[in-house]
Amino acid sequence: MERTLCIIKPDAVRNNNAGNIIAMIQKAGFKILGMKQITIPNAVAGKFYDVHKERPFYSELVSFMSSGPIIPIVLEKENAVADWRTLIGATDPAEAVEGTVRRLYATSKGENAVHGSDSVENGKIEVAFFFADSELA
Ligand code: UDP
Ligand code: MG
Repeated sequence: MERTLCIIKPDAVRNNNAGNIIAMIQKAGFKILGMKQITIPNAVAGKFYDVHKERPFYSELVSFMSSGPIIPIVLEKENAVADWRTLIGATDPAEAVEGTVRRLYATSKGENAVHGSDSVENGKIEVAFFFADSELA
């Protein structure tokens, strides 16, 4: 069994798409081990996306991620990291495959509805960023 971190981003929470996204997650066979709705300050969003700090979109991304409530969710399933990336689709919704979360619910390349860990190792780091072990079912 593998774990990955999903975040329902502020745009999708604001647009009331969280329920639809959670339904897609469950239909695809992921087990939800932990979930909460929180609003994070700029500094915390900056730390989460530290790997992108040299990229031109960093400050916009950090402001966006702290602009309203987010819903981090820990997902478990065989091949969870790759399968969640497949279900969310490409970073840019214009390039995302039909039926993917981003194709359905993202509004732009920046405001793209959801996050997904990009490797098993980063998944572990990102799960621990938002959740204590005691919060995971
Ligand atoms: N992002 C952006 N502009 C870009 C590339 C990325 O605003 O040109 C944002 C977008 O919200 C993306 C996040 O930065 O989801 C992290 O970028 P990454 O390349 O890791 O994309 P992801 O793994 O989320 O598909
Ligand atoms: Mg990424």
